[in-house]
Amino acid sequence: MSFLEFNLTPSIVEAVTSMGYKTPTAIQTESIPVAMKGGDILGIAKTGSGKTASFVLPILNKLQHTKPVEKNRQPKVLVLVPTRELAIQVVGVFKEIAYELPRAVRAIAIYGGVSINPQMKAVYGAEILVATPGRLLDLQKSNAVELSKVKILVLDEADKMLNLGFQKEMEQIFRLLPKERQNMLFSATLSDQLTGIKNVLLSDPVVIEIEEKEGGISLINLMGYFVSDDRKGPLLRHLIREKNMQQVLVFTSSGLKADKVAGKLSKNGIQALPIHGKKSQSARMEALRKFKSGELQVLVATDLISRGIDINELPYVINYE
Ligand code: AMP
Repeated sequence: MSFLEFNLTPSIVEAVTSMGYKTPTAIQTESIPVAMKGGDILGIAKTGSGKTASFVLPILNKLQHTKPVEKNRQPKVLVLVPTRELAIQVVGVFKEIAYELPRAVRAIAIYGGVSINPQMKAVYGAEILVATPGRLLDLQKSNAVELSKVKILVLDEADKMLNLGFQKEMEQIFRLLPKERQNMLFSATLSDQLTGIKNVLLSDPVVIEIEEKEGGISLINLMGYFVSDDRKGPLLRHLIREKNMQQVLVFTSSGLKADKVAGKLSKNGIQALPIHGKKSQSARMEALRKFKSGELQVLVATDLISRGIDINELPYVINYE
């Protein structure tokens, strides 16, 4: 299978080729044709499956075939995501491909924890919003955005949105959307709660479930250490030093714990930074940038913040709790 077979606008194919995508992933192979026809999709796929491009490509393709409208505050595409990190990541994929297109398309990220004013301005003229639910509702309440012209809705990592307690906000947003629209829902798992949302949202969806590749699993070594609480810190430091671990992502169950673990590592001469919801956006971005570039040895993060972050070939992941 090649990207040429989808009948996408040639400049989209050129863009993905220049991004180094040679062949579509399983979720892309199955989703793109359905999405291009305007069908609803329920995709069960994990981060790393290539699910972002499976909705980004058909959306940009569709917009290429429509006339640019007058600038307004009425986006045509809404992608809801659970975290600001994912909003930034997804909008990055939209922008990277849109950059190569003959018909300009503007995509912006909307998320909380930063000043709302620049986002209010940026919404004007944006056709695609990639948003976390809370901040989107803030913008809507201040009349900075109007959702009645949304033609395509994507819920990315829907299970995580529910885990983070966004159900009410999501339902509020659904009520602001027009009835007639295309819906695509992506999730790593299918919970009962999600089934409820799926039933109200999707009409006769094509269900696409991507099994994890067996080959992928064998590339991962799993190890467990049974230790008492007071010995976890020393063991962590010992392992990092002993194995000379670089790029270590440590999960903790709370922000407070992340601060403590990172603080203790730093005190013992191991470069570490915490990342969680209470950190400022700039501190989170800086920590992530350093970690991705390899400058920072250890990133200590809360589970929900870190899921969905895409880092190629991450060598070590430690679940501290
Ligand atoms: P995602 O699951 O959408 O977060 O994508 C995971 C990673 O796979 C990202 O780094 C993408 O750039 C990359 N990717 C997505 N689709 C393809 C493809 N068809 N070929 C190669 N890499 C891809």
